[in-house]
Amino acid sequence: MLRAFPVLEADRLVVVLTPSLGKLKVTVRGARRIKSRLGGHLDVLNRVNLTLALGHRFDVVTGAESAESFASLKGDLDRLAAALYLCELVDGLLPEAAPHPAAYGLLLAALRALDGEVAPESVLRYVELRLLDDSGYMPELQRCLVCGKELEAGHHRYAPALGGTVDDRCVVAAGRVLPLSVDALKVLRHFARSDFAEATRLHLAPELDAELEGILGFSLQHVLEREMGTAGFIEHLRTLRRRPP
Ligand SMILES: [Zn+2]
Repeated sequence: MLRAFPVLEADRLVVVLTPSLGKLKVTVRGARRIKSRLGGHLDVLNRVNLTLALGHRFDVVTGAESAESFASLKGDLDRLAAALYLCELVDGLLPEAAPHPAAYGLLLAALRALDGEVAPESVLRYVELRLLDDSGYMPELQRCLVCGKELEAGHHRYAPALGGTVDDRCVVAAGRVLPLSVDALKVLRHFARSDFAEATRLHLAPELDAELEGILGFSLQHVLEREMGTAGFIEHLRTLRRRPP
């Protein structure tokens, strides 16, 4: 489950990500009453088996049984903040009611990794890159997006608005650019060709993680603004990352 907000009286509107139907808004009747039969299972982050009935505006939850509750993750503020950030990111990037099994699998793998011993940094950066890829905005990491030439080690920057790398010579034509170290480029290329388990074995030093967080964060900001006109959304996400709930 990605998000919940109160509606009329004791009802709640809940945003869920499903393996076959994509992102859905569903109503839970009476969820805010203390002894709600369904409400207890429908906690944010939980993986839940849901039974739905066709409703007037939104489908109505008629049954809910928690399948995974990620208790260990919820007991650690850093991991909890990372998981909530990823849920909001998926919620922001995915359109409603369009099947997206890849995003479901990715988010579930991320929650399971954060519930275990895997370092949150590599999980966050890998999921960010994969979500860019899934949204059709995989960053260019081999060539200069202005002149098309292959990059030379040490002579590259990152242009979020263009969607990837540029070389030093083309910086003026590229608009706003960010520094891109050799190590950061190596990590991005490694993530681009790795699956979840392989990518998240990597330990990212704090400085390198901060560089990658900036690069991927600005890329996501461009995609979010272009696709949904949600300026300011990424700022909200950044706040969420910095301030554990
Ligand atoms: Zn160039």
